[in-house]
Amino acid sequence: PFQPTEPRPVCLADLGGLEGPVATLKELVERPLAHPEVYAWLGVAPPRGVLLHGPPGCGKTALGHAIAREAGVPFFYAAGSEFEEMFVGGGGRRIRDLFNSAKKQSPCIIFIDELDAIGKSRSGSMGVVGGNDEREQTLNQLLTEMDGFTAQDKPVIVLAATNQPEVLDAALLRPGRFDRQVLVDRPDLSGRKTILEIYAKKVKLAEGVDLDNVAQATSGFAGADLANLVNEAALLA
Ligand code: ATP
Repeated sequence: PFQPTEPRPVCLADLGGLEGPVATLKELVERPLAHPEVYAWLGVAPPRGVLLHGPPGCGKTALGHAIAREAGVPFFYAAGSEFEEMFVGGGGRRIRDLFNSAKKQSPCIIFIDELDAIGKSRSGSMGVVGGNDEREQTLNQLLTEMDGFTAQDKPVIVLAATNQPEVLDAALLRPGRFDRQVLVDRPDLSGRKTILEIYAKKVKLAEGVDLDNVAQATSGFAGADLANLVNEAALLA
């Protein structure tokens, strides 16, 4: 059976420039997990699937871990690529195990990183010699499992991350599955400054370094680029 893991030691304060996504995730993920009784009383189903998408290195994975850490519920992590090299039927079974284990420990969070590795559009694989039956089976199992839980008082929220939302199968995005989509985009000027400050605190910084200037000169940089920039600068020094 699948075991919950400890989210990475990253908290929301370690991430900069993501105020919008954080606020949305608090409402979509933290609140239903903390107060399932309110949703049951209202008779509404809490959100089921939340898809984080955006360019590489903008903090989707880090944000998933940080939100789980903040919510303080069991956390089931799987990367899409883990399901890829399975023998036939193995991927589907692993998805079933994942959801069954999670349901037993609800309220909880499932986080599927690199969702595109299993969620690519089925029509997209047509015409490929040999097809990709295994991936399709895994995807079908995921679609079935996403339909399978409705209990309002015991929510299981499925977070997923991808930097290729356009290749995902349309069935994954329909209401009741990953119908909430949160864009985690490259930071703007003030976001870049915040991220630079976060990473500059971790290195010895010369007096007179003007992070405003650096933020202005790094338009288009993702969070991971900025983290790297600070480290490279420190290495050079
Ligand atoms: P990919 O799509 O390639 O998986 P991702 O969006 O999931 O990328 P992460 O793996 O979360 O990106 O980010 C890589 C690293 O970059 C993080 O561990 C973190 O150190 C840093 N980082 C990214 N975005 C931010 C941010 N907004 N604030 C602080 N650090 C960030």
